[in-house]
Amino acid sequence: MQQIPRWLPLVAVIVAVLVVSSLFASGPRRDGVEVAYSRFKELLSDGEIAHVELQGNAVTARLSQPMALGPGGQPSQQLSTNIPAFGDPKLMPLLEQQGVEVISRPDADGAGAIWTTLIWVGLLAVYLWFWNRMYRNVAGGMGGRGIGDFLAGSAAAHDKGTPDVRFADVAGQDNAKREVAELVDILKDPERYTRLGAEPPRGILLMGPPGTGKTLLAKALAGEAGVPFFHISASEFIEMFVGVGASRVRKMFEEAKKKAPSIIFIDELDAIGRVRGAGLGGGHDEREQTLNQILSEMDGFEGHEAVVVLAATNRPDVLDPALLRPGRFDRHLTLELPDREARRAILGVHVRQKPMAGDVDLGIVAGATPGFSGADLKNLVNEAALAAAREGATEITMRHLDEMRDRVMMGLVRKLAIEPEERHRLAVHEAGHTAAAHYLPNADPLYKVTIIPRGRALGGTHMLPEEDRHTLPEDYLRDRLVVMLGGRTAERLLLGGVSSGADDDIRQATQLARAMVARWGMAEDIGPVDLRQSESHPFLGREIAQPRHFSDQTAHQVDEAVRGMLAEAETRAEQLITTHRADVEGLIVRLEEQETLDHDEISDCLGAVAADDEPPAHDRAAG
Ligand code: ATP
Repeated sequence: MQQIPRWLPLVAVIVAVLVVSSLFASGPRRDGVEVAYSRFKELLSDGEIAHVELQGNAVTARLSQPMALGPGGQPSQQLSTNIPAFGDPKLMPLLEQQGVEVISRPDADGAGAIWTTLIWVGLLAVYLWFWNRMYRNVAGGMGGRGIGDFLAGSAAAHDKGTPDVRFADVAGQDNAKREVAELVDILKDPERYTRLGAEPPRGILLMGPPGTGKTLLAKALAGEAGVPFFHISASEFIEMFVGVGASRVRKMFEEAKKKAPSIIFIDELDAIGRVRGAGLGGGHDEREQTLNQILSEMDGFEGHEAVVVLAATNRPDVLDPALLRPGRFDRHLTLELPDREARRAILGVHVRQKPMAGDVDLGIVAGATPGFSGADLKNLVNEAALAAAREGATEITMRHLDEMRDRVMMGLVRKLAIEPEERHRLAVHEAGHTAAAHYLPNADPLYKVTIIPRGRALGGTHMLPEEDRHTLPEDYLRDRLVVMLGGRTAERLLLGGVSSGADDDIRQATQLARAMVARWGMAEDIGPVDLRQSESHPFLGREIAQPRHFSDQTAHQVDEAVRGMLAEAETRAEQLITTHRADVEGLIVRLEEQETLDHDEISDCLGAVAADDEPPAHDRAAG
């Protein structure tokens, strides 16, 4: 069947509008001189009118003989006028009385008709749009693009062709790349393997936080092997109609097999791959049918079909175990958030086509972006390019990247009216954090401090972990507590009281201290016992509550140990700020003047760190 072009419904609507409006465009005839209605009535009463045509409110009349109807006007035998909007009940009797020939035509006021037509056509267009959308959804899984594709039963469109992405475009993720690289050879020359009776791997599950390059890696595999890439998001399988998902799956696999060797990539697998029987509808809902279809398609591969199915998820924990059995998604690859070196490499990939200024040091940017995913880094570079373009600059500079980093991490700069007194308190608070971070031996190095409000924060002390840490030593954590409580301590010492500004500091410090006590055994009185009450999700960064498995007394002990740890951190912050009070006050003045201070400016104010600033951590802990 031939495909209906997408533009056809639109053209049909336009033609309909033109045809219908041209039908009415002529409207009532308006011959002759236009006169006032009262004048028309006068002429009628005088017996001058011989013939009248009525159409809606419009009146066209012929006089018994030509006469000049206006001052200085030419004699005319035709005139036209309008009956007042509220009507004239005396008109018909008068016409009859005068024996005037009357012709009445149906009301079809031109403009009114056009509007009516337009409204109807508009409604029709909305209807057509919905219809198109509906079928587009249905056809979506088959790569359809609307009514035409649906009618054509086209399944070919979801074949995205061979992507032009290569492994070189995927920076970092070396482990995952190595694993999938093995498949390139199989996909390029499947026969070499099948001759020996080796079956290609069927399914690979890519796991990891959002934006770590799962889709990119799947594309790169197809690109390297030069095979067609079929991409679908699992949520697209499930739309409106029951049974559609399963039939889409069937179509997609059929198509992929026809074009084998090929790659199918199913994004967001968890949308359909959740444990079966957990849904409503007696365990036979649309999602489960779709999942069953995927499973049976994967089982139905014959040895010679080199179709590799890759699926991505960031919720591997909820997947139906049947999906993970041998022959299905039995190979699992985890893509981690990139470490510093990988971030540097990812930035390198994304600045390739962009003009960068000489001052740009991607190593510094990578160091300043812990926790950023590949997608975040791509976004950062893009935002910096946009900022540079807005300024009319020809190159992206370090300043653009730095500003956008702050924006991505902390939100937009907020224009906020802050009273001088509150601003001073803000500077004292941030100086407290900064001083603690500066003087403590195990704290992360300072990057900058600012009292410019951004996102939800009024100010911020930014520190950068020098390397990406995989384990956190106790000394480091104890110093981190001191830094967190340094702001509040400075307020208390220098302003004589605290404020609500430490809300988030206290929350974070308490969470950290609780983890140190209940998970990492860092409280001497309690020791290495697992006393956690929640579990953090590996990819979502969320805490999931767990049932408590210890006594009230132990819970009380944990609370006491947490409190003790925080009190100790506060005492240490107090000592540091008291010892260096003059320098801290200098920092506050400069911060209020400049609003943002970088690492060197902070060092200028606070001076070098003396080795004996604090006794070593183990002495402290013991004391
Ligand atoms: P989601 O789980 O949200 O679907 P994902 O893991 O599939 O995310 P992608 O869609 O592959 O992430 O990544 C988004 C974009 O981020 C990519 O198009 C790419 O430009 C960039 N990106 C992510 N990781 C990398 C990487 N390792 N190297 C280069 N670019 C990357």
